[in-house]
Amino acid sequence: MSELAAQQNLKPTVLSRAEHPISRRLLSPNTLKVLYRLHRAGFLAYLVGGAVRDLLLGRTPKDFDVGTNARPQQVRQLFRNARIIGRRFRIARVQFGEEVIEVSTFRRSPVVEEPNGEEATDALAPEAASDDEYGTPEEDAFRRDFTVNGLFYNIADFTVIDYAGGLADLERRVIRSIGPAGERFLEDPVRMMRAVEYAVRLGFSLEPETALAIREHFREIRRASAARLAYELTESLKSGHAAGIFRGLWEFGLLLEVLPFLAGYDAKQQELLFRLLALADRVQTEKSLGEEALLALLVWPWLAKPLSEAAEGSLPWGQLEAEIKSRVGEMAQLLSFSHYRGHLLRYGFLYFARLHHEPRSPRKAARMVRHEAFPVAMDLLTVQAAADRQAARLLARWRDIRARVEAGQPPLARQAPSGRFPRRRRARP
Ligand code: ATP
Ligand code: MG
Repeated sequence: MSELAAQQNLKPTVLSRAEHPISRRLLSPNTLKVLYRLHRAGFLAYLVGGAVRDLLLGRTPKDFDVGTNARPQQVRQLFRNARIIGRRFRIARVQFGEEVIEVSTFRRSPVVEEPNGEEATDALAPEAASDDEYGTPEEDAFRRDFTVNGLFYNIADFTVIDYAGGLADLERRVIRSIGPAGERFLEDPVRMMRAVEYAVRLGFSLEPETALAIREHFREIRRASAARLAYELTESLKSGHAAGIFRGLWEFGLLLEVLPFLAGYDAKQQELLFRLLALADRVQTEKSLGEEALLALLVWPWLAKPLSEAAEGSLPWGQLEAEIKSRVGEMAQLLSFSHYRGHLLRYGFLYFARLHHEPRSPRKAARMVRHEAFPVAMDLLTVQAAADRQAARLLARWRDIRARVEAGQPPLARQAPSGRFPRRRRARP
């Protein structure tokens, strides 16, 4: 998009510190530390991306990203707690305990790098990107995905700098591609999913040309790597807006391209899926659910019947297991789950069904609680309990058992609150 910037020769809109609501108090102390150290060393230091957008909207940013003209190696020399990641575009991750600030050098290339784990770390390796891949702040703004994500906050003078029209689009509450939407989506199809996610999360609408381009190009989402698709889906599931985002992704055709098995759901199963996602969103406001349980919700409608039949005792466990294995396996393959993640999902479902029975002995109860998939099963039960009082009692009972096991006490000292542990439970929410 650097040509675009040059062609249009756009002058940025600059808001002085009195003209916008961002103040240093709203940034995390570590972010300020990073910005100031870069600034004092003579580099440009901007807060970039979603944090600027969120602060201008009066929202709390999820994380803080920094943009600079310092090269990754220079960033690393300034911060002993920095690690360099990425093969082609190197990003310095500055770690402060739990908090990580990502510092990226301004660049011009709009192409997004595949996630590569973090194995490309090496302090002595030569710079990965050639010099002409780095760019000016203006070029960096134009390689970003949406106008509202292209805003900068400059620590040198506390101004907000807008090259791509993000301020006006924040006012209008629209998600608009930077540059021609079709081109930007072909360049990186994952942006189509991101557009829908931002619109739902922020309560914005999609600018018509951007929406039209998704309708035209949604099939291209198949070209995205499984790792990036899995990442976007997981982030959406965790967002607290999963029901809305998945509905949007479904309506644009994106979801069925990514997870074709969802097309096999009949009307009831579809309804169940969105009900589960809405329940998860509700639970998510108080307690966060694990990624495995959230992903499991996507195949739950396939398994609702066998799960409740197994819980009632009318389906043999072996058959339930086979059913779970085949449904989870399909999703695991589409999204390239690790072996371990697949294992957690399978056992999560199985243990979820088992939670509906009184454990046969204290020893068995303790073994269940210690199983690595037990938290997944408890998360599934938590979702079910959000709409089902019997499941809520069961959940309380298992929390009690878990607490006892963790405290080294006999797990079954107290009976279920209803006097007797409920033997028969439907697994449907
Ligand atoms: P969140 O609140 O989810 O963190 P975010 O906007 O900060 O939202 P990130 O995924 O953290 O999103 O990315 C940070 C910034 O990097 C974005 O705001 C955007 O400017 C840019 N960006 C991220 N992914 C892409 C992409 N695929 N194409 C172009 N720019 C991108
Ligand atoms: Mg971010």
